[in-house]
Amino acid sequence: MIESLSERVREMQPSATLAMAARAREMQAQGISVINLSLGEPDFTTPQVICDAAKRALDEGYTHYPPVPGLLELRESICRKLQRDNQLHYTPQNIVVSNGAKQSIANVLLSILNPDDEIIVFAPYWVSYSEMVRLTGARMIPLHCEVSNGYLPKPQALKELITPKTKAVLYSSPCNPTGAAFSEELVREIAEVLRPHPHIVVISDEIYEYIRYEGQHFSIAQVEGFQERTALINGFSKGFAMTGWRLGYMAGPEWLARACTKIQSQFTSGAHAYGQKAAAIAYKAAREDVHTMVDAFRRRRSLIMKLIEAIPHLECPTPQGAFYIFPDVSAYFGKSNGKRVIHTSEDLAMYLLEEAHVATVPGTPFGAPRCIRISYAASEEDITTAMERMDKALRALQ
Ligand code: PMP
Ligand code: GLU
Repeated sequence: MIESLSERVREMQPSATLAMAARAREMQAQGISVINLSLGEPDFTTPQVICDAAKRALDEGYTHYPPVPGLLELRESICRKLQRDNQLHYTPQNIVVSNGAKQSIANVLLSILNPDDEIIVFAPYWVSYSEMVRLTGARMIPLHCEVSNGYLPKPQALKELITPKTKAVLYSSPCNPTGAAFSEELVREIAEVLRPHPHIVVISDEIYEYIRYEGQHFSIAQVEGFQERTALINGFSKGFAMTGWRLGYMAGPEWLARACTKIQSQFTSGAHAYGQKAAAIAYKAAREDVHTMVDAFRRRRSLIMKLIEAIPHLECPTPQGAFYIFPDVSAYFGKSNGKRVIHTSEDLAMYLLEEAHVATVPGTPFGAPRCIRISYAASEEDITTAMERMDKALRALQ
């Protein structure tokens, strides 16, 4: 049969992070020793207390359809977390648990965007934002955050992008892919730019909240008047090393929670029951495990920054959160190792994969074609070897 694909799918790009990870796995399966720094995934296993709770939940019969917005017990524990960590008062009616924060973001975008609406997305952005927005038919307006400004947004530049069609603003802090983390002062400045436009919804992706090395996390929902207009996105994948469990959530006004629930009721139903039961204890029972993992990420950040600074021609601000560095590699464009010429960040990522056997992700799908993303959610040994290999391969480019 001929391929009868929709325009929607034809125009959509596959996830570049997952594609690069799959490519690295294929090479590993062929026996090539690829060091995979492509995927943003903690290399730790989920804390034992959470795994034990899931096993108990299975024995207790949590094997049936859960309520679409999530088990009440989990939503209550999320409300307690938001009060404890973020001084935000929510009730379970404000919370929708989904199959990963990825689905939470998709639910919100599908809930609020009409074709031709505009959504301002801080760039560099996480690869899935642009493709999800495309799916809604809305127009993504990037707000470029420059490497020279530590990849932080300039509130004045945000102001200039707002039009009568602007429906939403979307960003992550700490940021995937740059590791930039907004201070309370910056968040307040962003809020003041948005205050005169009460119809604009803020989608604040806080999935890396716990993986922060400097400063305190501060959510825009904490700014007076903003909780009612913020879709706060968070989840269990990063902080608790639970990527494979697929559990994330949205906290927002009730009208938005109802809309997300409606969409989810038709697409997927509630996230898996026994996982939710286990996640309900995470915020209370696994705090020490989170600290241990973050301490390891902090050591790895120091290590990778020390090694990357020794590699010539890379411009790379020190990340304040998440587990990525996002160097500007454009100084290598136009250079060659005698066999191949590097023109783009895709060329450079392919060159590093094939010549140095180090998997990274090119910057273009993150809206930053001069950069590549390197994840340091890997062992210190792998980070050291990968940077040695990268150094050698990059020095071979003349
Ligand atoms: N937001 C950001 C910024 C991310 O990096 C990720 C990657 N996992 C997600 C959302 C989605 O997380 P998950 O679906 O695993 O909860
Ligand atoms: N968010 C992670 C990343 O950026 C996981 C992969 C994905 O879902 O895109 O690598």
